[in-house]
Amino acid sequence: MISIKKLNLGQFPTPMYRLDNMSRTLGRSIYIKRDDMTGVSTGGNKVRKLEYLLYDAKEKGADVVLTAGGAQSNHAMLTAACCNRIGLKSILVLKKRGVQGRVGNLLLNELLGADVRFVDSDSYDDVYAEMDRIADELKKQGHTPYLVPVGGSVPLGTLGYVDCAKEIFSEALELGIRIDRIISTAGSGGTLAGLLLGAMLYGDGCKVTGIAVCDDPFEEITAELVNGAAALMGEKAHIEPKDVDILRYYGAGYAQPSREGLEAITLMAHEEGLILDPVYTGKAFAGLMHLIKTNAIKPDETVLFLHSGGTASLFAVDPKDVK
Ligand SMILES: *Cc1c(COP(=O)(O)O)cnc(C)c1O
Repeated sequence: MISIKKLNLGQFPTPMYRLDNMSRTLGRSIYIKRDDMTGVSTGGNKVRKLEYLLYDAKEKGADVVLTAGGAQSNHAMLTAACCNRIGLKSILVLKKRGVQGRVGNLLLNELLGADVRFVDSDSYDDVYAEMDRIADELKKQGHTPYLVPVGGSVPLGTLGYVDCAKEIFSEALELGIRIDRIISTAGSGGTLAGLLLGAMLYGDGCKVTGIAVCDDPFEEITAELVNGAAALMGEKAHIEPKDVDILRYYGAGYAQPSREGLEAITLMAHEEGLILDPVYTGKAFAGLMHLIKTNAIKPDETVLFLHSGGTASLFAVDPKDVK
C-alpha cells in the first residue's frame, strides 16, 4: 500500500479495453490502457507523477514550480496545466532546438499562460544550470521555487506509475483476464520503473518491456528509480540493471519521427480510430509490432499497451524530419 500523499488532479481509473481489430491484424490479444485520457489538458502520463510531485511542492510551501524539457515537451506542458489547477505559477525551461512556433505543446503552453524560457543548447547540463539560476533569482526575490527534473522521473514521481500498475491489475481482474506483459515507452524512465515495480508487487509474474525513445542507459536509470521508489514505499523489492527489459526502437534519434513509428500511428488510426504520437507512443507501438514479428512476444501472450499520451506533438511534426 502506498501511504505517501498525493493531490487529486487527474481522472482515474483511465479506461482499459481490448483492441479487437488490432488483435486480429497482429495475431495477439492486445489491450490498451488509456493514459492519454488522464483528464488534464490533452492528457498523458505526467499527470500521475505530478500528483505526487506537486503535493510535495505544496507541502514545502512552494509558490512557483520550475521544470525542464525539449521544445515540445509534453511533461512541461502538463506541469503548467496541473499548476494552473492548484494556483501555482510555472516556469518552463525548454531546449530551443526542435519544432518552434505556435504549434503543438508550445501553443498549449501559451494558452495555459506558462512562463517559457528557451535555452540555446542541446545539453541538459546547460538547461539545468539555467533552471538553477532562475531558481536562485526567485529565492532572492522572496519566492519559494520547487524544481521538477525532466519528465518528473524521480522516485517520488515514479509512484504515480506504481498506482497505474495497481489500477491495471484490478481492471484485468474485473475484465476476467490475465495480462502477461505490459509494453510502455521509456523517455526518462519513471513510467517504466513505476510499472515494473507495480508488476513486481501486484502483477503475479507479469513482464514489463520498455521501448526506448533515445539511447540513454535505461537499464541503469530504471533500476535506480525502481529501487528508489521501493525504498520510499518501505518495500524490500530490489532489482539490478540486467533485470530491465528494453528494446531500442527509436529510429534516427529522440523526437525525430521514424518511418516505422509513423506506420504504427497510421495503422492504429485506421484499425481502432485511436491517435498515437510521433515521439513516444507511435515508436512504442512500432516496437511492440517488431516484438510480435520476431516472436519475442509469444502467440499465447496477452499484451497491454500503455498509451502514455503526447497527442499535441502530432501537430508539430515537421515532415522533413522523418527518417
Ligand atoms: C514523457 C512521456 C513518455 C515517457 O515517460 P517517462 O516516464 O519519461 O519515461 C511517454 N509518452 C509520453 C507521451 C510522454 O510525454
